[in-house]
Amino acid sequence: MSAPRIEIDIGKIEHNATHLVDVLAKKGIGVTGITKATLGSPRIAAALVRAGVRALGDSRIENIEAMRNAGIGAPMRLIRSPALSTVERAVAHADLSFVTELDVIRALSTAAGAAGVVHGVVVMVELGDLREGVMPDDVDHVVEAVLGLRNLSLDGIGTNLACRSGIAPDTTNMTALSELASSIETTFGIPLRVVSGGNSANLNWSLSAAPPGRINDLRLGESILLGCEPLHRTPIIGLHTDAITFVAEVIESKPKPSMPWGDLAQTAFGTRADPVGHGTTFQTILAAGQQDTDPAGLRPSTGIEVLGASSDHLVVDSGQRIPIGSEMRFLPNYSALLRSMTSPFVAKVLTPTTR
Ligand SMILES: *Cc1c(COP(=O)(O)O)cnc(C)c1O
Repeated sequence: MSAPRIEIDIGKIEHNATHLVDVLAKKGIGVTGITKATLGSPRIAAALVRAGVRALGDSRIENIEAMRNAGIGAPMRLIRSPALSTVERAVAHADLSFVTELDVIRALSTAAGAAGVVHGVVVMVELGDLREGVMPDDVDHVVEAVLGLRNLSLDGIGTNLACRSGIAPDTTNMTALSELASSIETTFGIPLRVVSGGNSANLNWSLSAAPPGRINDLRLGESILLGCEPLHRTPIIGLHTDAITFVAEVIESKPKPSMPWGDLAQTAFGTRADPVGHGTTFQTILAAGQQDTDPAGLRPSTGIEVLGASSDHLVVDSGQRIPIGSEMRFLPNYSALLRSMTSPFVAKVLTPTTR
């Protein structure tokens, strides 16, 4: 089989999604299954739909189009604000877009009118992580603008935390979102169908004893794919953490000194090596590198240590000589997964159910 490759066990992903859908349903929270880390893989999307997600979400319209073209019929949410240049594609292929800017909202309405559809919107609210969202004081103004546009329907509000600044979802910010939802309903006399509390980083809070308030939707990607929560990267009980593996092939394996020699200048990526000597190592090179994955995000099996990587060489301390041509397996973190899925050099091997 060709290497490097990313192996995805669809059965394990379906199990993870089913488990999260079930435990969150007990709290009245539905799951939007996020496909962006898999570039909108239709087979993974289909597994999420079988698991019972209420909708699929992706930040890129290209991925949504790929899923639609493959015949995925589930409700589709564009979870990053469309760019002004992509509003026509958004209304053609997504049912709903997350929005934060009046210019985009108006352009979406115009595009929806031209396409003869009504497009859903969820207004994103900034609650402290300082990525996307309308400031809480401006939400009423934006809601009013949406309600005044004939080709848009206001589906709800949402927020995103723990991405840019690592702000954890907690009772304070989730209560703020719930209160905003109720206040919009009172002010405008409309029901909000969706109150989307966040991404996988919200699971610690959602599955705690805290009452969910108005939160009735979470957008889950990493937790379904990698089986862990992203605040502390703790495995979630009941989920597989090995549904996805990165596999690379050995092209060199030799005992070498652990200390480089010669005049020490910059590395290929402009950093400085910080060599620590501990005698001779068995240094093994795999045919993979920065162009295929995030080497710092690879977890090798016991006894192997990732030492570093350039564009095309991944160097590990293997403790012993490894036969040339043999393969080594790693568990990717989110960053390594994303880059591997995006690299044209990495084969994607999806294996069906192994439950
Ligand atoms: C990527 C993304 C998600 C999913 O995040 P995970 O941590 O992978 O669950 C949810 N919401 C938004 C807005 C995103 O961009």
